[in-house]
Amino acid sequence: MADNQSVLTVSIVTPDGKVYDGQTSLLVVKTTTGELGIMPNHVPVIASLAVDEARVLRDDGNKNEIAVNGGFIEFSDNVATIVADSAEKQGDIDVTRAEGARKRAEERIRKAKEAQDSDSMRRAEVALRRAINRINVANK
Ligand code: ATP
Repeated sequence: MADNQSVLTVSIVTPDGKVYDGQTSLLVVKTTTGELGIMPNHVPVIASLAVDEARVLRDDGNKNEIAVNGGFIEFSDNVATIVADSAEKQGDIDVTRAEGARKRAEERIRKAKEAQDSDSMRRAEVALRRAINRINVANK
């Protein structure tokens, strides 16, 4: 990569530790208000993140895909820090586990609907979004 003005550093941290650290010319994340693309020298930004993927452009033109399960992003001085509730690099995702989590969440949603339990429903919906996000990122 070229000089510091033409790259940005991406750091993804969770309560379990650092999940990703790298440099890129383009980072794309999904905020709660829509997709956000960040290139070097972008204006400072802070935004909350949806349960979705983060895409980091590599030198070879391909992208590193990371499942980011909510949290926020802060960008300034060409450093993007994502603080996520949980996050997994594409190659670290256990699809069988995520499929199991998806089935459990769907079952919890069904039961919560029956019981008209809106709190349980919301929690199960978030768990379902995490599972689907992991499955989508793993299968890209
Ligand atoms: P599960 O019910 O399978 O535990 P979950 O959505 O409740 O899924 P989280 O509480 O979000 O799991 O995550 C707990 C930890 O396990 C985090 O470190 C997260 O990165 C990791 N993790 C969860 N699911 C997977 C997966 N399918 N593949 C790899 N790591 C996972």
